[in-house]
Amino acid sequence: MPELPEVQAHAERLAARYAGAVLERFVPLRFTALKTVAPPPDAAHGRQLAAVGRRGKYLLADFGELTFVVHLMQGGRLKEDAKPAARPKTGQARWHFTDGRAWLLTEAGSERRAGVWCVPTSGVLDAPPLDRLGPEADQVDAAELAAIFAAHPMRLHTFLRDQSCLAGLGRRLANEVCHRARLSPFAATAKLGDAGAAAVVEAIRACVDEGLAYERTRDDMSSSADRPGAVHHRAGQPCPACGDTVREVAYSSYTVNYCPTCQTGGRVLADNTTSRFLR
Ligand SMILES: [Zn+2]
Repeated sequence: MPELPEVQAHAERLAARYAGAVLERFVPLRFTALKTVAPPPDAAHGRQLAAVGRRGKYLLADFGELTFVVHLMQGGRLKEDAKPAARPKTGQARWHFTDGRAWLLTEAGSERRAGVWCVPTSGVLDAPPLDRLGPEADQVDAAELAAIFAAHPMRLHTFLRDQSCLAGLGRRLANEVCHRARLSPFAATAKLGDAGAAAVVEAIRACVDEGLAYERTRDDMSSSADRPGAVHHRAGQPCPACGDTVREVAYSSYTVNYCPTCQTGGRVLADNTTSRFLR
């Protein structure tokens, strides 16, 4: 899933290429793509793209009075559509510009969870779907994070992925942040205290900066295998910090990767899948 660095760099890319372009029409290609009923998206027709921004893992395409809020979910992409086909295979929605260019929202697979919300720009941050988001992950300081930790007692990895606690991180950065902070992914947030919050803030900023620096070198959004990191999806490989073997605990929809030496005092966490990497 694209996370804060990927979405941020993509917003910058689209802004650089399309700022000032005039929207001819927005066309939902599947009835599930547009998540809002009012205001109608055609109120943005004939309007210039004023800015492309980001909040959490959402892209915000600002056409003056109306903003399209786009969530890519797992397999979604907002691509430049050089030759708009009549019925693009994985197409969810399309924005046609008067200069002949277009954006296509695609989503691979059958989940159909990527979507577009059409929201008045003036209240966009306080309206669904953005109203439920916690602060931007790379903007909180240690004191703020310590307070949020105390208010949301849960496992650290779960906390980092919860968009209502912190916005912008996902499965990959949750793994990388825990490793960078040298904390167990299963550490209890309520027990991390000021020192733990400071370590997590520093780790978030370092991981986001690293991801952004890489993503900004690219012409379009990376796929997850290309993204920099130490532990995410690297089970069985040596930890770049200490050489111990990266482990995994697999759940149905995500995988926790960690280094025992760096993060759990050498303890290997209960897991039914690691053995296949160590056999
Ligand atoms: Zn290590």
